[in-house]
Amino acid sequence: MDSTIAAVRKSLLDWFWHSARDLPWRKDYDPYHVWISEIMLQQTQMERGVFYFQRWLERFPDIHAVAAADEQDVLKYWEGLGYYARARNLQKAAKIMVEKYRSKIPDDSQVLLTLPGIGPYTAAAIASIAYNRDIAVVDANVERVIARLFDIDGPIKAAGTKKRIHELAEKLLPKGKARYFNQALMDMGGLVCTPKNPACHECPVAFCCRALQEGHVHERPVATPAGKIIPIEMATGVLTYKGKIFIQQRKTDDVWGGLWEFPGGRLEVGETPQEAVMREFKEETGFSVEVEAALATVVHHYMRYKVTLHGFSCKLKGKFSEPALNAAQDFRWVTRKELADYGFPAGHRKLIDFMVSSNKELPR
Ligand code: SF4
Repeated sequence: MDSTIAAVRKSLLDWFWHSARDLPWRKDYDPYHVWISEIMLQQTQMERGVFYFQRWLERFPDIHAVAAADEQDVLKYWEGLGYYARARNLQKAAKIMVEKYRSKIPDDSQVLLTLPGIGPYTAAAIASIAYNRDIAVVDANVERVIARLFDIDGPIKAAGTKKRIHELAEKLLPKGKARYFNQALMDMGGLVCTPKNPACHECPVAFCCRALQEGHVHERPVATPAGKIIPIEMATGVLTYKGKIFIQQRKTDDVWGGLWEFPGGRLEVGETPQEAVMREFKEETGFSVEVEAALATVVHHYMRYKVTLHGFSCKLKGKFSEPALNAAQDFRWVTRKELADYGFPAGHRKLIDFMVSSNKELPR
């Protein structure tokens, strides 16, 4: 077993020197860069993450810039990545690091764990990749590689399976080389030992892969039955008055708190999307509106939900008045161009993009 572990370590590290992905945070392993990349890459594809990472660094080149920024600016630069609590927590953590840790990212995973938005995986990733601490990092790629290497037959999401995979990852880790070994395992899972059609003929550790020897590659890892996707129908209205569009800012403690939106919400039983828009406007803002035209219907997937959002252009019925703000903390009347300056949830941003790309004229 020990000689196999030694061979796996050497093969993976050799492979990494030749085949490592060229990623911007790997140029100097600056802890700030590693931290940002790890938070951004949660639930985000690599290419997309690299784009957002580079754009982020242009605006927030260091931890001071994040700590001192307006929250709206932080959310704006996060727009498109979703899961906005990550951006808010990132800024909270930056402020703590500036005030309590002399603007340094802590190198101790236990200290990292006390910071907002940093869980066990991210703490391990920062400590090992930025500071080369001897801690195994287990993401979905690593889970898959280990489940196949050791032909693990338990459901991948089961607590017992996770514990076993973690123990094996710790066992495989060569002391003093965590930075490279962890990334080698992650890259190998992302590039070679992929979920579908793994390239076993190119694999640096095929010589000891038990799933390959047993003919179980496509059965590992053992899937956990997927949860049901819940469909949700929503409607929203783009209200225009004297050439300006009404937007409101969600309350801070709300889901997507701090982001901007057009008023709207879920359809009630038996309600049409148009009826829902008129009702929601009345409830949320006090405005009586009339639906003028359908703008677009966009579909957005969010965790276990499939959200169908019906967007309409609207106009005021009756006299102009100030909004009531029953579901928001602030509001603006903005031009269509100014919509680009505010952070919106993905569904509303899709609606805006559709309006822009189709050059759909909003009624005045
Ligand atoms: Fe994955 Fe195939 Fe390599 Fe086994 S041999 S670790 S299944 S790529």
